[in-house]
Amino acid sequence: MRRIYLDNNATTPMLPQVFEAMRPYFAEKFGNASSIHHHGQETRAAVEDARESVAQLLGCRASEVVFTSGGTEADNLAIAGLVAPGDHVITSSVEHHAVLHACRHLGESGCEVTCVPVDSRGLVDPADVRRALRPTTKLISIMMANNETGVLQPVDEIGKVAAEAGARFHTDAVQAAGKVAIDVNAIGCHALSISGHKMHAPQGVGALYLRKGTRLQPLFYGGRHERSRRAGTENVPGIVALGKAANLAAESLGGSRDPKMAELRDRLEQGILAQVEEVAVNGVGAPRVPNTTNIRFDHIDGEALVIALDLKGLAVSTGAACSSGAIEGSHVLVAMGLRNAQAKGSVRFSLGRQTTAEEIDFALALVPETVARLRELSPTYKRQAVST
Ligand code: PLP
Repeated sequence: MRRIYLDNNATTPMLPQVFEAMRPYFAEKFGNASSIHHHGQETRAAVEDARESVAQLLGCRASEVVFTSGGTEADNLAIAGLVAPGDHVITSSVEHHAVLHACRHLGESGCEVTCVPVDSRGLVDPADVRRALRPTTKLISIMMANNETGVLQPVDEIGKVAAEAGARFHTDAVQAAGKVAIDVNAIGCHALSISGHKMHAPQGVGALYLRKGTRLQPLFYGGRHERSRRAGTENVPGIVALGKAANLAAESLGGSRDPKMAELRDRLEQGILAQVEEVAVNGVGAPRVPNTTNIRFDHIDGEALVIALDLKGLAVSTGAACSSGAIEGSHVLVAMGLRNAQAKGSVRFSLGRQTTAEEIDFALALVPETVARLRELSPTYKRQAVST
């Protein structure tokens, strides 16, 4: 069966060039990057080249890049590493669980945490962040791009609020990297997380930008890897792959958003809006990354739609989570004001660099008929059809 993959916010396929770049580091070039002999020097050079590539993508110095095992670790390192008990932390209600749960843990360990709301478009108001400040505020952690809706937060403005207050600013840019240009100096952040597998490198590698001079309490104790900011022998193949993916992303972004991807996303979104009634785009009206659209289909269950589409060869996803045995609508969509049923009826389509116009046409042919079929079984849809 033909399979179309529109779930690139969950993970992306590795680009062939990325795979080729990392391949020698599994067997031929296997050295420990801390060894002083030839084998170690070879892999050390590769790690430092990759660090330079990531630094170029983010607009920072190579020495400010700390390699990690992924986005979750980068988020946790920034959040746990930049505060101490008694400190106050500000975050938002739409963060990824890597940030939300790390902040929740801080709240249980002697820190105070304020979660600022978002509006119906999913946007944080920097004025709310300013109002939440306290004399003890040490860290603000607000994401750059949301994983479910693709909404881009006004991180430059939030960075200014943090700077005025003398607080540190961390932003989770896992879903922004490779999709929009990132300049850590324009954002004014002290820390920024990225993840390899969201940008066509493999799973299990990521990086944290940490501004020079920012004191960080490490998560792990061990050797002096990564300038004592992250102990543990480096994942050389993963790091090389992340470096290559960063090069390719920087090349294709060329300093601005990717127009081809945005065109395909808009074609998909407009096509669904034109062909299916009682739908809405979550996050519409807010700036968004070019690859994501999150669509609410009234009267049906998003999980049922995901399964029905998968059976026909189209992979998409919902942000719904199973909590205490019951499926709950995504916390992101509920924070934007959707009722639980509306949140549960929402589905995310996320494109990748490999997505073609033909694949979008396949999705456009499939989604309306599948929604219609599921609605035939929906009691709320029928009731409404009778009453109008
Ligand atoms: N932050 C965001 C916004 C994400 O979308 C994800 C993954 O879905 C993460 C953090 C976690 O990254 P990783 O899967 O590399 O641990």
